[in-house]
Amino acid sequence: MSKSVADHVVRDRLWERHMLLARHGATAANGVNRQALSAAEIAARRELIGWGADLGLKPYSDAAGNFFLRLEGRDPAAAPVLSGSHIDSQPTGGKFDGVYGVLAALEAVQAICDSGQTPVRPIEIVAWMNEEGSRFAPGMMGSAVYAGDMALGDILPVRDAEGITVAQGLADMAHAFPDVPQRALGRPVAAYVEAHIEQGPVLEQKGFSIGVVTGIQGKRTFRVSVSGEDAHAGTAALRERKDALLAATAMIQALSAAMHDDEDIVKFTVGRLEIKPNAPSVVAGHALFSIDLRHPLESRLRELGDRVTDICTANAGPCAVEVDELVTAWPLEFPAAMQDEVRGAAQRLSLRSMDLPSAAGHDSRYLHGVCPAAMIFVPCKDGISHNEAESATPEDLCDGARVLAETLMALAGR
Ligand SMILES: [Zn+2]
Repeated sequence: MSKSVADHVVRDRLWERHMLLARHGATAANGVNRQALSAAEIAARRELIGWGADLGLKPYSDAAGNFFLRLEGRDPAAAPVLSGSHIDSQPTGGKFDGVYGVLAALEAVQAICDSGQTPVRPIEIVAWMNEEGSRFAPGMMGSAVYAGDMALGDILPVRDAEGITVAQGLADMAHAFPDVPQRALGRPVAAYVEAHIEQGPVLEQKGFSIGVVTGIQGKRTFRVSVSGEDAHAGTAALRERKDALLAATAMIQALSAAMHDDEDIVKFTVGRLEIKPNAPSVVAGHALFSIDLRHPLESRLRELGDRVTDICTANAGPCAVEVDELVTAWPLEFPAAMQDEVRGAAQRLSLRSMDLPSAAGHDSRYLHGVCPAAMIFVPCKDGISHNEAESATPEDLCDGARVLAETLMALAGR
């Protein structure tokens, strides 16, 4: 039997590329700050183009700033198999979140080239624009526009903290690469596979190097606005006060108790609380807080999220409350046949895999609506991510890239 494509995956080359890309936006604390469409991202793309050129891969971009490196197939007219993730990061991000998916795809494609095989379908490595949503909100802009879930016109006017628009950022990116052709959005895709660090502790704790991702947990976010009345902290009678801060904290306590589950599956977070006028001697007349609620089961997420307004109202006291739902992203399950591809590839390579859902959102959420999609997880140290201390081992990264190479070759056709 001939060598499998996975045997051409080179651990040290894959590791070295992570270290090289991490120079673009490197922070003093050994992390990465590489914002979407920034000079650091431009430099990182330039490096990817160079590595791709050595393999004869052609670079492309599109109107949403997504970036592709294409390996031609035996049938160039066939819809390509896409694999990648993102190379933008949080302001205090690490070397692996997103980058791994892009570099694992590059390594897999290089392994396929080095094996002397040419797949039937083209394979395209992709880096989606602005997955993190830290410079421009919301995140996953590039994949959402690609999938048709967001309109290009809706993202172009979005501004960063300095007032620079996405449109300007896209122009900067295009200007940096005058030779990279722009293709139309929404091209057909045969399949999408995204490799990613788990960003959670399960694989490491259970001793598996490969996670077959079953789906992505759902998320509902809310904005709760509580209106009371500003009053003098010394003279206003307590029984006549409309203290918006007291009402908001009562709501948060009641919500937190209602969302508690002994299995620790429900994820309930109030990450923002703003009060006005926020002065030590004034009863707060207004309070605003956020709710981020996540669960892998649609029925449970539906039930819990639908209780938010009632719980807030019941605990508003003398204040008025308004609840707005901002994001409703239901849990999704990747097609069983795609999970089987990943599981089967791991088995053929004698790598132990376990099934698990993704607790975090990924670009594959949007690609799932475009084509059959799958994700491969590898462990990261202590589950730490969105942190400069994010860490993974060369062995685990290599195992994931080997599974990816086998999966891509199978999907693209031998
Ligand atoms: Zn990511």
